[in-house]
Amino acid sequence: MDGPEYALSDKATEWGAEVLEKKRPELLDLGIAVGFVVSFKKKTKGKTKKVLGECKKTQDLYRLFCPYDFLVVIYDQNCVGLTDDQMHTLIWHELLHIGIDEKGKPYVKPHDVEEFNEIINECGLRWNE
Ligand SMILES: [Zn+2]
Repeated sequence: MDGPEYALSDKATEWGAEVLEKKRPELLDLGIAVGFVVSFKKKTKGKTKKVLGECKKTQDLYRLFCPYDFLVVIYDQNCVGLTDDQMHTLIWHELLHIGIDEKGKPYVKPHDVEEFNEIINECGLRWNE
């Protein structure tokens, strides 16, 4: 691929700041800095599932050179056609990957739920509770 894979985006930064303030203000209170970037890669998970976004913790070594504790990557090519509301939800989703442990240390939190659409449609999301 020619050209850079990642870029800063005013839109993503603006949306990120809005969603942080509205949905995860405790991260701001804790001084956790999140940077938002777009990627032009058409990233997939497995063979076909499009990845819309990702939340990555900045490694300790890189943290020395980077002012952000976490980086949210938005896969631009995979988000074509999403509404502004959907983009906000995507950013909220990515910010929910930022967990804080008992010692107050931030970490990348996995999803609460992993399920197939067929099961959700027929049995609901909480069939096992
Ligand atoms: Zn996720």
